[in-house]
Amino acid sequence: MNDNSEKQYELDKRYLRMAAVWAENSYCKRRQVGALIVKDQMIISDGYNGTPSGFENVCEDENNVTKPYVLHAEANAITKVAASSNSSKGATIYVTSAPCIECAKLIIQSGIKRVVYSEKYRIDDGCQLLKRAEICVDYIEINE
Ligand SMILES: [Zn+2]
Repeated sequence: MNDNSEKQYELDKRYLRMAAVWAENSYCKRRQVGALIVKDQMIISDGYNGTPSGFENVCEDENNVTKPYVLHAEANAITKVAASSNSSKGATIYVTSAPCIECAKLIIQSGIKRVVYSEKYRIDDGCQLLKRAEICVDYIEINE
């Protein structure tokens, strides 16, 4: 590893830790996921899994099944950029767990060029799709 890539690796780990802290905002009980979008060394957006704005802060139904309208952390972070004057084109998204296929589609369409995640998921079709779209996908383990 050269100096630059080592520096980037340390930054990546730091952003992933921040995303993990951000996930604590989620009121979902089954799973808490956090995401940060970084562009030109600035955090331009953030997100955690939860219901859309204006909906009650309950993610699971009476059977502990996640409600169908719960947005994933990545979707929340990406749509937050869409509602701002920023652009996610060329940005990096840091997410605490591997993106699902639905979020992978959004990541591709939003122009994000790199995905860094810290927790593997049993289904990896999201990462496969990202790689097919030639998006750089990096898994980095963080120990808390
Ligand atoms: Zn997702």
